[in-house]
Amino acid sequence: MPTILDGNRVRDQILRDLGPRVAALAEAWRPPGLAVVLIGNDPGSQIYVRNKVKACAELGIASESITPPSSIATEEFLALIYGLNQRPDVDGILVQLPLPPQVDTRRVLLAVSPEKDVDGFHPMNIGNLVAGRSGPRPCTPAGIMELLKQYQIPVAGKRAVVVGRSDIVGKPMALLLLHAHATVTICHSRTVDLPGVCREGEILVAAMGRPAMLTADYIRPGAVVIDVGMNRITDPTEAARIFRNSPERLATLERKGSVLVGDVDPLAMQEKAAAYTPVPGGVGPLTIAMLMSNTVSAAEAKAGQAGRPVLP
Ligand code: NAP
Repeated sequence: MPTILDGNRVRDQILRDLGPRVAALAEAWRPPGLAVVLIGNDPGSQIYVRNKVKACAELGIASESITPPSSIATEEFLALIYGLNQRPDVDGILVQLPLPPQVDTRRVLLAVSPEKDVDGFHPMNIGNLVAGRSGPRPCTPAGIMELLKQYQIPVAGKRAVVVGRSDIVGKPMALLLLHAHATVTICHSRTVDLPGVCREGEILVAAMGRPAMLTADYIRPGAVVIDVGMNRITDPTEAARIFRNSPERLATLERKGSVLVGDVDPLAMQEKAAAYTPVPGGVGPLTIAMLMSNTVSAAEAKAGQAGRPVLP
């Protein structure tokens, strides 16, 4: 039986470890502060932001949601970010993506002060990541590294294959695995013989946003499979194919009108992997936990600069 890598358990552990650090900050200085900026009515983004605010409240982090109108222009958005950069009570700024088309996302992400960039998306922090210097790391890949660590899955010397080369998942994931001394291959939509390359992976990370695309043919027997994908499917025929052995997931589709599936075929993972992250309950819960972690680290750094050092 493969090991199911339980993201909820790892999330709980991360949050438990952060508790005393938040308490120490609150006692010696003030609680950490996170500002979350959300534009528009995208239901997915609204749920993410609600969950982030809830996680802050549970941990004792002061959080604030800022919801400018969806018609906001880039210059106004930049002014808002500059204002948050100046605020002494804000340690972390999170801009919920995607932004509406009239807003220049790159300029906005560049405007966030690198010290408050708890998503790790600022070019300076990306540079720190590439160079292996300290700094906030993008939350989803950082959470995956924490999961591998807590399950004591060896990375050094392993062949790791990352499918997807986005700035927020694939690229930083590959770099973190590289820094942990894996031999890393990055795949994308132009990769030739993707199944063959994936089968080289002792650690296989799937982050394409393609429902259940990696079937048994892509998985090396005994691999550790990390499924980052979060795809909501509504087509009963597609669901019946993917969840052919999971009547409870098909029941979810019937009840809710949609069901969540990762980028890896769930049955293939169960049959071929030594360990894998389920969807839901694998990678998903880790992202918010690492956001909390980055916010607490940013607050600790600021407390130190303010002459109120709080040891992590
Ligand atoms: P993205 O920006 O759309 O990037 C997708 C990547 O996958 C691209 O590099 C693309 O290649 C590659 N790709 C697409 N189709 C492919 C194919 N047929 N064969 C090989 N490569 C292919 O997506 P993302 O933001 O990285 O997100 C990826 C998935 O992770 C999504 O399902 C997303 O919802 C999920 N996600 C989950 C969390 C979480 O907390 N669990 C967080 C973030 C993202 P090209 O570069 O060649 O186009």
